[in-house]
Amino acid sequence: MSWFTRKEKNIVTPTELKREAPDGLWYKCPECKKVMHTREHKNHAYTCIHCNYHEKIGSEEYFELLFDNNEFTETDANMTSQDPLKFVDTKSYPDQLRLPRRKPG
Ligand SMILES: [Zn+2]
Repeated sequence: MSWFTRKEKNIVTPTELKREAPDGLWYKCPECKKVMHTREHKNHAYTCIHCNYHEKIGSEEYFELLFDNNEFTETDANMTSQDPLKFVDTKSYPDQLRLPRRKPG
């Protein structure tokens, strides 16, 4: 079947230029390594449709799942934790709170 054989050697197309792999369109499950459409993954509440692996999601994604039409009013956005028990683990609780927080997105 010579008509299936590529005549020119060393033709390499970068992944981002391939039509079938646009950026962000596919989600690969870290557990079962199977691929699914990101829309399908989102519609299944960020769980794998093959193995039911639950992906970690941020607060924005979680709010989308919780609230109808993603409508909510945030209150006390600047509220912070206190340390009334003077709790100490490997670090004191206030020191633990001062560690850089994970940024949304
Ligand atoms: Zn999976």
